[in-house]
Amino acid sequence: MRWGGKDREATRRTAERRQREDEAPRLAAAIPTLQGLRLEVMERSASISHPQHAHVRHVVVANAPALFILPCHDTQCKDGGHDLTQEILSALRHRNARFEGEDACRGTVGSANCSRVLGYVAVATYQV
Ligand SMILES: [Zn+2]
Repeated sequence: MRWGGKDREATRRTAERRQREDEAPRLAAAIPTLQGLRLEVMERSASISHPQHAHVRHVVVANAPALFILPCHDTQCKDGGHDLTQEILSALRHRNARFEGEDACRGTVGSANCSRVLGYVAVATYQV
């Protein structure tokens, strides 16, 4: 694959993600009692036990979309990513203060399945 094609593909995906985020309901509307949300995300390869990529994401509840779709960070990965929307919204509806989960990438690398696994720890605060 040529680089140009890959760039266009990435641009198209970014545009699609923006559109999905714009069309999604707001987090503040979906979970009115939510005050703050912090997501600690760790991505690792299934064959390697230590985290390869970790970052903390502070969600701005006031204007964030009620959508939690995280990209796969393997640059060779095709159609990968992690849609955590349903499980995170469900935990927030139950007013869980701390919850965590894991999601295996659904993408493909070459002819094989992507081996990346994303783990997250979420810390949420609510109005009393
Ligand atoms: Zn992947």
